[in-house]
Amino acid sequence: MSYPVIVVPFLNVSGMALFPFILVKYKADANDPVLIRHETIHLKQAAELLVIPFYVMYLLHYLYNLYRYGNHRQAYYQIIFEREAYRNENDAAYLNKRRFWAWRFY
Ligand SMILES: [Zn+2]
Repeated sequence: MSYPVIVVPFLNVSGMALFPFILVKYKADANDPVLIRHETIHLKQAAELLVIPFYVMYLLHYLYNLYRYGNHRQAYYQIIFEREAYRNENDAAYLNKRRFWAWRFY
């Protein structure tokens, strides 16, 4: 399944998954398969957790990591949902073979 991509020029990151949309800062990014795959992984994670709990868990993981590592960058990259997304964003076949709640293995 593909999700609608919306260009949001004032976005402060290159891409964001805001269920059920993928927001990108630049129009060209709408054609970046790696970025779109990364954000699509997040939308699947969100759908599997009935959306709101996904965002709550994402935030709580981030805050826990911030406390644990003491810096934003590491706190962000160690969020379990980001670990799954970054690990698989370059695998074109990943979305077809991904298992339910796959993030729990990261
Ligand atoms: Zn991400």
